Amino acid sequence: MENKRALISVSDKTGVIDFAKQLAELGYDVISTGGTKKTLEEAGLNVTGISDITHFPEILDGRVKTLHPNVHAGLLAKRDNDHHMAALKEQAIGTIDLVVVNLYPFKETVAKKDVSFEEAIENIDIGGPAMLRAAAKNHQDVTVVVDPTDYSRVIDHLKDASHLKDLNRKLAAKVYRHTAQYDALVADYLTEQVEERFPETKTVTYERQQTLRYGENPHQSAAFYKHPFAEDSSLVHANQLHGKELSYNNIQDADSALTIVKEFEEPAAVAVKHTNPCGVGIGQTLKEAYDRAYDADPVSIFGGIVAFNREVDDVVAQDLSQIFIEIVIAPSFTEEALIILTQKKNIRLLEVSVHQGEPQEKLSTVSGGLLIQDEDRYPESDMQYDIVTDREPSEEEWTNMKFAWKVMKHVKSNAILLANEKQTIGVGAGQMNRVGAAMIAIEQAGEKAKGAVMASDAFFPMDDTVEAAHQAGITAIIQPGGSKRDADSIKKCNEYGITMVFTGVRHFKH
Ligand code: 5GP
Repeated sequence: MENKRALISVSDKTGVIDFAKQLAELGYDVISTGGTKKTLEEAGLNVTGISDITHFPEILDGRVKTLHPNVHAGLLAKRDNDHHMAALKEQAIGTIDLVVVNLYPFKETVAKKDVSFEEAIENIDIGGPAMLRAAAKNHQDVTVVVDPTDYSRVIDHLKDASHLKDLNRKLAAKVYRHTAQYDALVADYLTEQVEERFPETKTVTYERQQTLRYGENPHQSAAFYKHPFAEDSSLVHANQLHGKELSYNNIQDADSALTIVKEFEEPAAVAVKHTNPCGVGIGQTLKEAYDRAYDADPVSIFGGIVAFNREVDDVVAQDLSQIFIEIVIAPSFTEEALIILTQKKNIRLLEVSVHQGEPQEKLSTVSGGLLIQDEDRYPESDMQYDIVTDREPSEEEWTNMKFAWKVMKHVKSNAILLANEKQTIGVGAGQMNRVGAAMIAIEQAGEKAKGAVMASDAFFPMDDTVEAAHQAGITAIIQPGGSKRDADSIKKCNEYGITMVFTGVRHFKH
């Protein structure tokens, strides 16, 4: 009987020499394309060049190497189909039983900042995916390997072939996922070149980061996927320094905290519970910022997630270690801080860059569909503040209103946020009516509401929120405006000496 044949053509040559040697030991004849052949021969292997199979040279700078019936018929012929096998015999074509291909590094190429269009195009692999897809289609008879991490288990299954067919099917599925992702990357790249923001179909594919223990609740299964070109300051790139694995809810909350803390240039601390900020503070130092975030709501921060935009030192770590906090996120931790915090078994420490980065597409699912929108960014330089009341805000009120406005954007609608002296003091989140959100925020702030400012994510449909603000002692309000009954709210503000600013910008968050 003739030897089995393995065709190896890889761009990423990791582990390929060992793998090919083991295949040779198992009795496979190895066929290879130019670069791969050279690598294997230099390692002392006996290799047949692809041109000896195709009787055709590799041409067009490698664009055409394996695109030939002698390769593709050898891959696609069904071994239990007499008609197929007779055709091979008639054309003197041998079967190919194992294919090892990984593709031109398109993703790595376009991820480079200064990549030229020509370089990107040249890195679209044509012959590789064709072989992978042909072999995967015929996985009944052909083993196809696209991922070097599969080499060892393939060898195991070739040695003991009792489960080879199962493995072949798994590998085939993996191949189609891989080529689909590969094409999706190409499609996305080209789509971007022609500036189509929302093309007819979205092709981006996500890569699994980790399988999660469970979802939002223990009876829901879940996994975490990452965008192939995720910003380095996104949560998927966080480096976990301590603590057990993040849960589904942890990931969502950590992402919220990280997103909010990126808003600030000055030292800031953001505490989050169930994706809403419960305490946010800024200050001259991180300690000052954390003290304010804590003091904003010492009850809710318990079991929460805290993000910082500066290195966490021993002073802040000491404070953090006084209460139960699920996760601390920071661009870095000093060694002393790590010594303090790692004494707590149940805390997780995440190190991640906190620079703002490019706006991301935000996805959410509905039954049977997917909504995609740009991230809610509105640069301060584009903001226009319209003072609509008789009284103008004091300098301090301006500072506080701008701070409140920044944080309020990240609170679930209907959202009312009260702030005072670089610190949130009351947050009304996710209410079905606006005055309800205001009442919650006011109740939480208590005495602190006196002299504080109020921010609202959307207009006041009636003047009842102004009434509530006045009762609580709030002196300034910032909101988008745009209600039919704005005049009522303005009138009420004037009666009470409250100053109010319209931004014209709404920040719903659902
Ligand atoms: P080598 O380094 O062996 O010269 O080339 C290996 C790469 O060539 C692999 O990534 C493989 O997918 C790719 N390849 C194999 N056949 C063809 C072909 O006919 N056309 C193109 N464009 N790429 C091919």
